[in-house]
Amino acid sequence: MDNDQGMETETNVYDEVEIEDMNYEEDAQRYTYNCPCGDLFVLTVAEMRRGEQIAKCPSCSLRIRVIYDVEAWCPSKAVPVCAPAATRV
Ligand SMILES: [Zn+2]
Repeated sequence: MDNDQGMETETNVYDEVEIEDMNYEEDAQRYTYNCPCGDLFVLTVAEMRRGEQIAKCPSCSLRIRVIYDVEAWCPSKAVPVCAPAATRV
């Protein structure tokens, strides 16, 4: 096992998932992703505003790292990802 400079960050994640592959629940303002235990990994928009990248499953100890472009993401808006100016012809 590598000994990474003793950082406290828990890089111990079950998987890494692109934000596009997650399911956005607009009502709940959160992203979810299927956990192997049958529950869901959850990352809320509020957490993303804080720069959180780790989505946790409430039913087990697993967690995943959510890959998203922090700069392309709009923290000031309620929108999770800046829509690429959806075909405005
Ligand atoms: Zn789980």
